[in-house]
Amino acid sequence: MGMTSLQTLTKRLKPQFTNRSMSKQIQHALAPEKMAVVGAGLVGSLWALMLAQRGHHVDVFERRPDPRKGTYKGGRSINLALSDRGWRALEKAGIAHAVREIALPITHRTMHATDGSLTRQPYGLPNAKGKFNDPQCIYSVSRALLNRLLVEESEKHQYVNYRFDHRCVDMDLESKKLTLEKADGKQHMQTFDRIFGTDGAFSRVRDRLMRTDRFDFAQRYLTHGYKEIEMRPSANGDFKMEADALHIWPRGEFMLMGLPNPDGTFTCTVFAPYDGPNGLNGLDSDDAVMTYFSTHFSDVIPLIPDFTKQWLANPTSSLVMTQCYPWHHGDSICLMGDASHAIVPFYGQGMNSGMEDCSVLSELLDAMNSPQDWANTMQQYTALRKPSGDAILELALRNYIEMRDKTGDPSFLLRKKIEAKLAAKFPGRWLPLYSQVTFSHTPYEQALKAGKRQDRIMEKVLAQEGIEDDWDRPETFESILNAWESDSA
Ligand SMILES: Cc1cc2nc3c(=O)[nH]c(=O)nc-3n(C[C@H](O)[C@H](O)[C@H](O)COP(=O)(O)OP(=O)(O)OC[C@H]3O[C@@H](n4cnc5c(N)ncnc54)[C@H](O)[C@@H]3O)c2cc1C
Repeated sequence: MGMTSLQTLTKRLKPQFTNRSMSKQIQHALAPEKMAVVGAGLVGSLWALMLAQRGHHVDVFERRPDPRKGTYKGGRSINLALSDRGWRALEKAGIAHAVREIALPITHRTMHATDGSLTRQPYGLPNAKGKFNDPQCIYSVSRALLNRLLVEESEKHQYVNYRFDHRCVDMDLESKKLTLEKADGKQHMQTFDRIFGTDGAFSRVRDRLMRTDRFDFAQRYLTHGYKEIEMRPSANGDFKMEADALHIWPRGEFMLMGLPNPDGTFTCTVFAPYDGPNGLNGLDSDDAVMTYFSTHFSDVIPLIPDFTKQWLANPTSSLVMTQCYPWHHGDSICLMGDASHAIVPFYGQGMNSGMEDCSVLSELLDAMNSPQDWANTMQQYTALRKPSGDAILELALRNYIEMRDKTGDPSFLLRKKIEAKLAAKFPGRWLPLYSQVTFSHTPYEQALKAGKRQDRIMEKVLAQEGIEDDWDRPETFESILNAWESDSA
């Protein structure tokens, strides 16, 4: 892979500050400022810590109660897949070791066919000998535990102050003043040097930016939604299915997915259209749910004895996508995480890309040499991250079709086998799209472009007569690599 666009841009703009030790000295020479972070979710709590580590005083405003009190579970999906882009940001903040304690490694996908047969597919790539000795993994983490840990770790820093039960209701852009409302309805105002909007897909900070000239915003809902049910451990506390796998029941237009949790449970999620013959809206009675599961997911029925009860009790949730531009305002307001790019969850990259926003902005700040550079830095941040946000949305939408429709398809599985062998035999010459998105820091837009080139080539290869039997020949690999090297469109 070539140099990332961030590295290129940083080099081009500030060649004198690419040396890390020099950029550290400059960082410490910058005056501490009063920063506001609006939203203490997964991105806001991490970014608060990263700002405080630079010597800034950070107030974090969160509309919800303290996640360490009560039984708050985090609102949306119960667990999440954490991968390399997220880990890199956590490492930069010095808290990856703490997160590792609550993370469960997942080495492969296991596909469940309608007849109950299983197909396994590793996430990582084999070594040159075709072995998976030290497999690449994604990690399952509980949303609630991770959020709590991020709040706790950041709060250890003397410069970070959390204000729970504080909803941001308005923001004055010129004076950088936030209007904050407490749980009792009382409002007060507070002024800051800079404000970071990490308040999620329905961001209030972004709402305010939408009233500025030439600010673009688009929101769409997927016509599909999701519902979660829990598979509890067996009587002796063991997982009921392989614990190092993400389980998928691909059924064409819809699917069931099972992601394990460290406590022995699986969070099982059905993603399906709202309407139509297999739509979520029609699954509103014991009989309808029983028929749906026995037709499509019969092997799950003995593993979740109360599945109909859970199904009817749990909410159906929608999937929203938002895009906006720019991601900053002048030198003082910046959007990060879902506030700037809410995507569908099918690549497991929403949080990871939000955490990558943190590491990218942090690297840009490393290269900054005076407070006057904030405007320039925020502009660079938008320039780098907006294309990445758009690309990961497209990738995630494509991956929904792949997961629900193609993972059970023999031609798809053959493609995966060929690509894994190619990558192992010719390292650096062919990296499958999944690996680029999940296990690399290649900007998403570059990965998407490369993925489209790979699709064009592999479509032709898979159309060859007899490829199922003679794919593992040197000529096949040579022809793919030649096509790759000559297809530069
Ligand atoms: C079903 C599902 C599965 C997913 N799986 C994955 C996965 O496997 N891997 C992955 O990387 N991503 C996944 N995601 C995406 C991930 O959940 C989000 O990208 C991530 O939560 C974004 O973090 P955030 O901090 O930007 O926003 P949020 O987590 O939404 O946090 C925003 C915070 O701001 C607070 N807030 C909102 N408004 C205000 C206000 N006015 N004032 C003060 N506070 C406010 C909210 O209470 C919240 O705490 C999934 C999403 C869904 C829906």
